[in-house]
Formats: sequence, C-alpha cells, structure tokens
Amino acid sequence: MVAYIEIADNEIKKSSLEVAMYGSVLAQKLNTTALAIAVGKIDQSKLAVLGNYGIKKVFSLQSQASISVDVASLVAKIANEQNANVIVFPKSVSADAVAAKVAIKIGASIVSNVTEMADVSAGFSVNRSIYTGKAFAKVAIKSAKKVLIIKKNAIALTTSANTAEVEILAQSLADTNITIKETQKATGDILLTDAEIVVSGGRGLKGPENWHLIENLAKALGAATGCSKPVSDMDWRPHHEHVGQTGVKVSPNIYIAVGISGAIQHLAGVNSSKVIVAINKDPEAPFFKAADYGIVGDAFEILPKLTEAAKKLA
Ligand SMILES: Cc1cc2nc3c(=O)[nH]c(=O)nc-3n(C[C@H](O)[C@H](O)[C@H](O)COP(=O)(O)OP(=O)(O)OC[C@H]3O[C@@H](n4cnc5c(N)ncnc54)[C@H](O)[C@@H]3O)c2cc1C
Repeated sequence: MVAYIEIADNEIKKSSLEVAMYGSVLAQKLNTTALAIAVGKIDQSKLAVLGNYGIKKVFSLQSQASISVDVASLVAKIANEQNANVIVFPKSVSADAVAAKVAIKIGASIVSNVTEMADVSAGFSVNRSIYTGKAFAKVAIKSAKKVLIIKKNAIALTTSANTAEVEILAQSLADTNITIKETQKATGDILLTDAEIVVSGGRGLKGPENWHLIENLAKALGAATGCSKPVSDMDWRPHHEHVGQTGVKVSPNIYIAVGISGAIQHLAGVNSSKVIVAINKDPEAPFFKAADYGIVGDAFEILPKLTEAAKKLA
C-alpha cells in the first residue's frame, strides 16, 4: 500500500495526513506494509512524522514544481518496485491528475470520492459519493491493483509515537517546461478545504460590515469561513471563500450556513458535509430540506448567542 502525500509551504497537507492514516489502516487490514511517497520540498524530520499515522517508510521527491506525468511515472515505478497493489491519493486537483495517470501506468482500477474505509471482508469494496454528494454508491473492485482517491474527513486522525524511515529520491523533476512563478495563498487561519468545521454566510448577512459575526463564531469553533457566490461577487468576501458548484467544494464534519437560501448551486458544494446546520429567518428556505439541524430566526440575534455558547464549550 502506498499513500501519496502532498506538501504545501514545507508542511504536509492535512488531507494527506488523512490519506496516510487511511492507507495504514487499510494496509493493516490487507496484512501489508504502509508506505508513502511525498512530493514537494519539506524538511526530512517533518516526513518522519508520518510514522505517527502508521506509515513505515516515506519516499521523498524534493521537487517544487513538477508536471503530473513525470510524478505519475515515478509513483508507478515505486509502486511496482514495492509490489504495492493499492495506492491512495488525497482529493485535490493536482493529485487527481497524478492518480489517473498512475492508474493507467500500473493497470489499476480507479475509484474517486471515497468516503469511508474499504471493506475487505468479502472481496474489496468502497463507498463513494456520487451526484455531487447527494447519494452514495458501494463499488466492488475486482482488479488486483487499485487506485483510490479519498475525500477529506473520510477518516479521523489518531497518532502514535512511531516515526517513519525517510528515503530522499535521487531523481529531480524540477527541470520541466512548466514553472510556477507565483502562487496566491488563500488567507485565513484554517484552510476552507481542510476545515473540520465551516461557518458560511450568505446575502442574509446584509453587508461585509457584519462579517465579524461569522468570524467570531468560526473562531470560537476553530472553523474556517465560507460564503455564497453573490457574497463574493459583491466583494463582501474574497473569491476563495465562495462555496458551491462554481466555487470550493467542502466536506467538513459540520457545515453551518447562515443567511444562505440553499440554492442547488450552493448545495452542490456542501452536500458531502457530514452534518449541515442551517440558520435562516425564512422557515421555507430550501436549505432546511438539506440540513440535519435548522434554526429559524434572525442571524443577528442567533450568531452572538451561538458564539457565546461555543466559547463556553472551548
Ligand atoms: C450557473 C450558476 C452557478 C452558481 N454557482 C453558485 C455557487 O457555486 N455557489 C453559490 O452560493 N451560488 C451559486 N449560484 C447562485 C445561486 O443560484 C444563488 O443565487 C445563491 O446561492 C444565493 O445566495 P444567498 O443564499 O447568499 O442569497 P439569497 O438567495 O438572497 O438568500 C439569502 C437568504 O438569507 C435569508 N436571510 C435574510 N435575512 C436574514 C437574517 N437576518 N437572518 C437569517 N437569514 C436571513 C433569506 O431568508 C434568504 O434565504 C450560481 C448560480 C448559477 C446560475
């Protein structure tokens, strides 16, 4: 079993820690070794930490900017050398591109949007989310080689004191035709796509001057902040916070939607959340049909009360 690890700013991305955890739990079930390939510049000591999540050995490609076809060749080569039958990837634009190419190179079946640990009790099957998170499909994989793309928050993280052996790969893929000249980082303490809790605001918040109400609740809950499309279109919030069909797709454990109507295009980005809470003054708002919990009322009254309650829990 090989877990594909993504690096950003000299840190392992949280979604990749989850993939390491997922891979090592699966390796235990399959009675095989949990290995990892980490792509990107990072201190060696930080990679050894993957042992905390059950990884025995990490192959490190210290390459900053590489194209997916080169990375895929390397991942396929290591997977073949290590006789790995399962490779697990985090769900991201760049990992998706590598995963698809790896699957072709090693002759594997590929299943994306995996939401739970694989069931290996009779054959090999996984649950995946379909129809933008509105439904789930149980998929049996019959081929010997398998590539799985794991959704965020599919597994809870637990740690041990173990560390992983790290091998720095000699190959450098830095000299490609494509170089990243500039990256624009999303702002905010907690990355929206990695967040376990998201507090999102819509047009019901009336204006950017009221966003401290969303931010205060998010801070009290350790959550990231999101918004609906019109809110970012009107520049109340930055575009990287816009959630939905045309924005960021999130799958947190809790999604709290405040003053958002629940249009189908917004729901397309939040359907995979484990628990949805809608706060809206209109009892007929469509969001209540998609929500697990609903509060009918004025956001301006409810948000300060929720924030105080959340502070007491912290
Ligand atoms: C092609 C296409 C793609 C789109 N993609 C996206 C997308 O990715 N993401 C997205 O979000 N939208 C998207 N949209 C827009 C989408 O259809 C909706 O228009 C949008 O989601 C509505 O945003 P909203 O809920 O913030 O605003 P509104 O529809 O105006 O709803 C505001 C809500 O706030 C409630 N409210 C008002 N005052 C209060 C208060 N004081 N307290 C509590 N509640 C209050 C109201 O009852 C209402 O339900 C897309 C549309 C199209 C056509």
